[in-house]
Amino acid sequence: MASVERKYRRTIIRTVMIGFMLSAFAFAGSAKLKDSDFVRVKDHIPTIYVDLRYASERNFMRKKVYNFHEAYLRYGTVKKLKRVQEALIKKGYSLKIWDAFRPTYAQWELWKVTPDARYVANPNKTFSPHSKGHTVDITMVSLDGAEIPMPTEFDTFTAKADRDYSDLSPEERRNGKILEDEMIRGGFKGNRNEWWHYSDAVQYPVEKIFVPAK
Ligand SMILES: [Zn+2]
Repeated sequence: MASVERKYRRTIIRTVMIGFMLSAFAFAGSAKLKDSDFVRVKDHIPTIYVDLRYASERNFMRKKVYNFHEAYLRYGTVKKLKRVQEALIKKGYSLKIWDAFRPTYAQWELWKVTPDARYVANPNKTFSPHSKGHTVDITMVSLDGAEIPMPTEFDTFTAKADRDYSDLSPEERRNGKILEDEMIRGGFKGNRNEWWHYSDAVQYPVEKIFVPAK
């Protein structure tokens, strides 16, 4: 009986120790991350939808600009986005990312096809804020990922795409505003001409080395 008890005690001690080690590991893992580190968004916000349009031909150029399908952003920006997602889930919605970190080579690709500074940042002068890893093109969908009325499609360069929502249907206006209110509350700034484009109010430098894995 005594030996069974000892064995039982040893098992408990071992389990507790493993638990401690694992939690220490998990703690060390996240404690090591700096706000400026690049992280895969889905690792930190598993419920978010990702549909990178420049990894496909469903963008204004009808051309694939990069060949990875995972959204990467600065860790500091992802922490803010996580709070926005939590707020939207409570309202019955979810975020869906159309574009996140854009390597500088992709900016040259865009410029080659569309050398027009109204639509694409001129990489000879400056790179897009997407190359800083703190900017996202983002929309809102239902919890199951279904499309809902939003101001326009991605990369629609018309008056309907700006932040004056007066020319939209009531549903489009309402949903665009819900997204905007939560993003602003979460610490992001919106682009005046593109309702889907938001930057972290905290700035980071252009990243020229990091490229997301395929
Ligand atoms: Zn953008």
